[in-house]
Amino acid sequence: MKSFFKSVSIFFNDFLLLLFPPPCLSCNMLLLKDEHYLCLSCEQKFSYYTPSEELSQDLKQRLMGKVNVVHAWVALKFVKTGWVQNFIYEIKYSGQKYAAQWFGVQYGHAIPLPIAHNYVMMAVPLHLKKLVKRGYNQSEYFARGLAQSMNVPLNTVSLIRVAQRTSQTNKKRFQRWQNAEDIYVVKSGSDVVGKHVILVDDVITTGATIESCANVLLAAGAKDISVIAIAIAV
Ligand SMILES: [Zn+2]
Repeated sequence: MKSFFKSVSIFFNDFLLLLFPPPCLSCNMLLLKDEHYLCLSCEQKFSYYTPSEELSQDLKQRLMGKVNVVHAWVALKFVKTGWVQNFIYEIKYSGQKYAAQWFGVQYGHAIPLPIAHNYVMMAVPLHLKKLVKRGYNQSEYFARGLAQSMNVPLNTVSLIRVAQRTSQTNKKRFQRWQNAEDIYVVKSGSDVVGKHVILVDDVITTGATIESCANVLLAAGAKDISVIAIAIAV
């Protein structure tokens, strides 16, 4: 009986998708039956199944002098207009958290990393206020997908983001900007000693966020840092 209801629900689900197919998150064309989140032609543009050596070098270069990373992978080049931006916008602001997770699964399969026992994955956390407003952290969903396909444990509790509480009224503009940055903290009692932490972010711009996160993790006893991001801004 149970399986009967299951097949009925699958049938209706397929039927609904046929009537109201969701749009591609990049080009907005309606998806065909076997397409998920991206249409076939956009999927080819994303080419997440072959990690780009060039983009990884870009990312490493950007982090150079800030933080030593063992590995760095980034799936896409982010430009202000166009297909990558549409996709990022959808997963960040339009509630498409499962698309971020799905993308993580696909990209994770492509990353050629021999995983050791001390690896742990952590997403760059959102500030609580933002998390409440948005309802989810897109980087964490991306990390969930990566963790799944790369078979690395995901830790979502140890790395947290807090707002700085210094008074900002009398500061000059530049200092104010600096103080507007949130700070990252490793929760006390977290087991990060000796770990190789894979930090996961959505879009890397200056690398300052990765630097801050890496610094607190290393100070808390982490052994190595690697980075995986969805996109790098050019
Ligand atoms: Zn498309």
